[in-house]
Amino acid sequence: MSDCIFCKIVAGDIPCKKVYEDGELLAFHDINPVAPVHFMIIPKAHIARLDEAHAKHELLLGRMLLLAPILAKAQGLNNGFRTVINTGPGGGQDVYHLHMHIFGGESADFRPHRM
Ligand code: AMP
Ligand code: ZN
Repeated sequence: MSDCIFCKIVAGDIPCKKVYEDGELLAFHDINPVAPVHFMIIPKAHIARLDEAHAKHELLLGRMLLLAPILAKAQGLNNGFRTVINTGPGGGQDVYHLHMHIFGGESADFRPHRM
């Protein structure tokens, strides 16, 4: 996806503050954090949105979820964290490359509806 900003980050064409990388996944800090710690985990492969993922992505999606607490703790979120996946216009999705937000921190405002 040549015009996808997160594909460009995966390719190294746009810089990011990297948190983690393996063959399938990349994690980096959100450029506009809503909490003291705010990063996201993305698949390196371009999947536009959660409702375009298929059964063949089951392992990949599971790996994203299991990675979240490991990276959250490594980022100092020892008291828990929030995960958010925005999907489509109705879900407030702005970047159409699947990503899971992970955020938290002592001073964050965690009203349920707010990302
Ligand atoms: P959403 O699609 O609504 O989940 O939001 C997309 C998120 O991507 C926002 O929180 C942005 O701050 C974040 N974002 C957009 N561009 C970049 C970038 N170049 N590096 C890091 N985060 C970004
Ligand atoms: Zn992409």
